[in-house]
Amino acid sequence: MRNALIIFTIFLLNAQNILAQTDSSEITDFRKKQLNSLQKSAGGPIAAENIQYVNYFPYDSAFDVIANVEYLTDEPTIRMPTSDGTSKEFKRFALLHISLHGEDLTLPVYENVSLFQTKAQSNYLFFPIMDLTTGESSYESGRYIDLERHDIQNGKVRIDFNKAYNPYCAYSTGYRCPQPPKENFINLRIPVGEKNYTGPKNNREETQTMATDFTAKEKKLILTGQPNEKMYVLQTTVKKDSIVLRTQSEDIKFDSPLLEHLTKRMYATVTDPEHPGVGLAAPQIGINKNIIWVQRLDQTEKKFDYYINPKIVWRSALMRKGMEGCLSIPDMREEVLRNYAIKLQHIDHQTGKQVEEIIEGFTAVIFQHEVDHLYGILFPDRLEEQKAEDTIVPLNDNIEFSIKKGPILP
Ligand code: ZN
Repeated sequence: MRNALIIFTIFLLNAQNILAQTDSSEITDFRKKQLNSLQKSAGGPIAAENIQYVNYFPYDSAFDVIANVEYLTDEPTIRMPTSDGTSKEFKRFALLHISLHGEDLTLPVYENVSLFQTKAQSNYLFFPIMDLTTGESSYESGRYIDLERHDIQNGKVRIDFNKAYNPYCAYSTGYRCPQPPKENFINLRIPVGEKNYTGPKNNREETQTMATDFTAKEKKLILTGQPNEKMYVLQTTVKKDSIVLRTQSEDIKFDSPLLEHLTKRMYATVTDPEHPGVGLAAPQIGINKNIIWVQRLDQTEKKFDYYINPKIVWRSALMRKGMEGCLSIPDMREEVLRNYAIKLQHIDHQTGKQVEEIIEGFTAVIFQHEVDHLYGILFPDRLEEQKAEDTIVPLNDNIEFSIKKGPILP
């Protein structure tokens, strides 16, 4: 009799284990798939030997919940700042009402509103979260949960926080990850899903394999004039111009045959005595390729130079305010807050090799303004962003800045 009881108890324990395993096997599969896609060999951000540093919280079924969906309409487009100092456009799509640990949460999910995306991409919704583990045991810039439009059925959607994962920026440089808005902060600990990545951060090399030549339409536009002839500058006030100005540009092959012809025409445009500028980006003359001209006010000769596939790979925490205008925006000049110094990476137009340079002061402002153009960002967007910003701390104005006259000796 006693033996039978023991056997029965063991059977019960086993049954419980099996039950728990069935619940979390979905998570085990999810993580296996995630680890596979994170591998560099599969186009992911982590070298195979560092996959072991991806960590997870234990599975907890209490964080697998059903949310009530409240659809939103007529939402304005918002710019979410990204990890590289630029931003991406989103709209709030719906509010998720979730009851978790006795708390009623209301969290927005977003749709990407960038102009060009495939049908599959437009099905994805963006659901970022931050919680009390953020910056402590989970990634400092928040985590994402995958969600697609068709997951929502009859006004409900399943949200399994056990599937919260880190954006690629947690493992590697060179990605543009949107920063979750304050509205997506959960004032609870969500100790499930992915934890902090503890391995070495990967340095994603900018490969030139993604660079393309000009399209047929672009070639035609470039060849509408001689190399010394200026080009029409697109205006935000013209609807079809505005679409080009809002489109993200692509890397250009540094040995594209028409590149020289184009850069000469861009130079003639930016130095046009009727509308002189200190910088010009290719989308402003109708070419969605990553090419900019900048006047080097930081160099003694103050000459203009052009930059191919420029990327800002570092920005100083120190900011400065300065007056900006834009050749594509008529009659508008405003004070914009920019990073005081930046590190610029670009392709040397003679050698085709990647080079880096630190740039400061107003010249750094010109670079930031022109590189923004390549992402479809205009300076009024920055102004709007800064209006909403409350994390800027003015420096004590008793600090005296000064510079030494003449050359600085080592
Ligand atoms: Zn501009």
